[in-house]
Amino acid sequence: METMKLEGLSLIGGGHAQPAGNPQTAAESATGAALEPKYFWATPADVDRAVALAAEAFLEYRTWAPARRAALLRRIAELFEANAPAIIDRANQETALPLARLQGETGRTCGQLRLFATLLEEGSWLDARIDHADPARQPLPKPDVRSLLVPLGPVAVFSSSNFPFAFSVAGGDTASALAAGCPVIVKAHQGHLGVSEQVGLLIQQAVRDCGAPAGLFSLLFGPGREVGLALVKHPAIKAVGFTGSRAGGRALMDAAAARPEPIPVYAEMGSINPVVLLPGTVAQNPEKLAENLAGSVCLGVGQFCTNPGLVLVENNPSTETFLGKLEQVIGAAPAGTMLNENIWTEYHTGLEKFSRLTGVRRVGAAPATGHNRATPTMFVTTAANFLAQAALSTEIFGPCTLVVKCESRAELLTVINRLEGQLTATVHGLPAELSASKDVLIALGARAGRVLVNGFPTGVEVCHAMTHGGPYPATADGRSTSVGTRAIERFVRPLCFQNFPDNCLPEELQEANPRGIWRLVDGKLDKAVRTAAV
Ligand code: NAP
Repeated sequence: METMKLEGLSLIGGGHAQPAGNPQTAAESATGAALEPKYFWATPADVDRAVALAAEAFLEYRTWAPARRAALLRRIAELFEANAPAIIDRANQETALPLARLQGETGRTCGQLRLFATLLEEGSWLDARIDHADPARQPLPKPDVRSLLVPLGPVAVFSSSNFPFAFSVAGGDTASALAAGCPVIVKAHQGHLGVSEQVGLLIQQAVRDCGAPAGLFSLLFGPGREVGLALVKHPAIKAVGFTGSRAGGRALMDAAAARPEPIPVYAEMGSINPVVLLPGTVAQNPEKLAENLAGSVCLGVGQFCTNPGLVLVENNPSTETFLGKLEQVIGAAPAGTMLNENIWTEYHTGLEKFSRLTGVRRVGAAPATGHNRATPTMFVTTAANFLAQAALSTEIFGPCTLVVKCESRAELLTVINRLEGQLTATVHGLPAELSASKDVLIALGARAGRVLVNGFPTGVEVCHAMTHGGPYPATADGRSTSVGTRAIERFVRPLCFQNFPDNCLPEELQEANPRGIWRLVDGKLDKAVRTAAV
């Protein structure tokens, strides 16, 4: 694609921003070496222009038939795949993520774009509801009331650092917002500027190819505290999607709430993802369990929001065998290169903080040498210590976990009930002990968006039933998910039509049901295509 030539400029509507100010250098993660081109930050005028174009594009795009929106999503996926070698290569340089992982993430990114396309065509996500009128009802006639979900308007998306494709420029937030009928303005992550531009360029191309209004998509480079906040505060922005730190997500939530017109922020801010090991399963095969757990902790240098950062184990005779093996595997695990210097620094700051706390034992090889290299680390403490020191509940983003030894089921439940909101919670147990541990399963369900049995939380399936969310502070709004088709619900609102003439209703609410979609008609699910009422 000719347009893949990188210029280091924000993409606004169908064009580029003008260079302004001093350009910034993109860096190779593994060496710190500078990468071409240099990047110019967006100005306040660029932000205004991108949002004004998005607001204008919304007027047309919200009227697009689902099939047209689906074609746009499929075109983005097609162009992503066609340009994947160049995008993967640049992502590998900028993030140090291995090629195989980036290939997998390409499949996931294109898969989720296509999943939203099929969702649009199927149509039931619109939650169309019809309650027919009853003019004869006493004491008052009943009106004809119908509703469905309509798009909110322009959405600001903050790319993540750890998923340069699947949670970034063409990632789940963008896919679900475009599917919902909303224009998107992405604030690029500074950790992968070149990849962001590459993917932005191909979305611009898809917008052109599908005849969409140019303002449907923009990509802005620049610091979150300036460009990002200006976006969130702009009156024409109607919702925000974010993946990153709690501090960053919270800053956006506060800025959005302080606007004259507050808007929803869907921030995914991480989690320590407790894993509970019930005694029977530990006794059955402590070594294998330790190996599998260590594999999940170290996967991708631990840079997953679903990384198991807390292991709760009920003390029993096999616990020490399990712990010994876990220490051995984590102590021998190789160092890996982290995404960027900021994340490397945060990881080591977190390790030092835990190391200074009382009653905490640290296990792991000596710190690695080499740019952005990190060594897997494990901490061990007691439930009493954990409960006494709130700092132990904080996330250390990287290949690290904390094992907490509980003396009894009651102590285990106390720890679970004290946890903050989590993205995931996991239980390992034998069938009989799981049946006898409903208290644990229920307690975990109250704290997390997804509860897993006998698995590991890393690896999030993109499907209709997935919840990648959870009570605050795992996310800003525990009623939502950022993965799976339900993610579309973040960018819509219900709109009700009362006593409308049939031909003035959206197609999906017309009496004849011309699209043949599932609807709730007078309280019953129905997809029959009817002859229109006269
Ligand atoms: P981050 O620092 O929160 O940054 C994410 C995005 O938000 C960036 O575009 C950043 O902009 C912007 N931002 C941050 N603070 C902001 C503020 N106060 N106002 C406006 N915008 C702001 O996250 P990160 O760079 O990905 O990694 C830092 C830490 O976040 C990690 O060490 C880890 O603890 C956590 N993290 C969590 C997840 C997760 O899955 N929840 C994923 C990755 C990282 P600029 O950088 O341009 O200023």
